[in-house]
Amino acid sequence: MRQFDRVLIVGGTHGNELTGVYLIRSGVFANLKQFSFTIDTLLANPQAVVANRRYIDRDLNRSFDQTQLAPDRANNYEAEQAWEIYQQFGPQSAKPIDVIIDLHTTTAAMGNTLIIDEYSPLALPVAAALCAVEPSLKVYSSRGSDRRDALRTIAPLGLCLEIGPVAPGVLDAAVFERTRSLVMQVLACLDRLNQATEIPLDALTIYRYEQTIDYPRNPQGQPIAMIHPQLQGCNYTALNPGDPMFIDFYGNVMVYEGDTIGYPVFINEAAYYEKGIAMILTQRQEIHETASI
Ligand SMILES: [Zn+2]
Repeated sequence: MRQFDRVLIVGGTHGNELTGVYLIRSGVFANLKQFSFTIDTLLANPQAVVANRRYIDRDLNRSFDQTQLAPDRANNYEAEQAWEIYQQFGPQSAKPIDVIIDLHTTTAAMGNTLIIDEYSPLALPVAAALCAVEPSLKVYSSRGSDRRDALRTIAPLGLCLEIGPVAPGVLDAAVFERTRSLVMQVLACLDRLNQATEIPLDALTIYRYEQTIDYPRNPQGQPIAMIHPQLQGCNYTALNPGDPMFIDFYGNVMVYEGDTIGYPVFINEAAYYEKGIAMILTQRQEIHETASI
């Protein structure tokens, strides 16, 4: 049961996330011949890479809402790029891509994170197969967020590798190697699934999107508190009601006021200050059932 004919590996969707940029530039994925699918690579936002910025006019990874993609809407650089990429690799193109692996880094200490979208029927089985061979992998599901505007969403199966912590504009050899190795594991996994007659869904722990939490801000929009030091770096760790969340510039502590345990991710991500996100709260869920698709 062959599912995957064309895989696209993408770096530089955010121009200052250098791990993906140099993995694509180095060509390490360009000439792999051992798999049962073809591999294309793409440096998604070349002008932002040159400028060493996340983006030029707007975030490219929020520019793929398919109801908005059209040439006459292309009124800025990222909108033009999104249209071009969609034309080249999207479902209407001559050779539509089956899987996108989009390479990102984060300033948050999130280790090795795989981001999936559960509306794709293959997302959970592929995540489970990957976690079985790579126990360090955490799986973050966008479910609950109705956004469908990331670059990966133009393929039937979109996978995002989010590796951290590393600062924007920095190449870190260990992060580079971790990412390269994870991509090879994803490719091997897709190859195995291509040979399988059915795809089992093994037990899996996932962290599902629940809500975004912004910094406390003054009426001018400036943050008036910081992530509490006890929470800094504690991605994927239980945050209980009443736990310290923020601390203001005078030492006053603000606690988590939710009434259920949350599992925060993207804590203090540098690129999210402008988006009004101090962290994303997820719900941890265990998938026990074994099913096949
Ligand atoms: Zn990114």
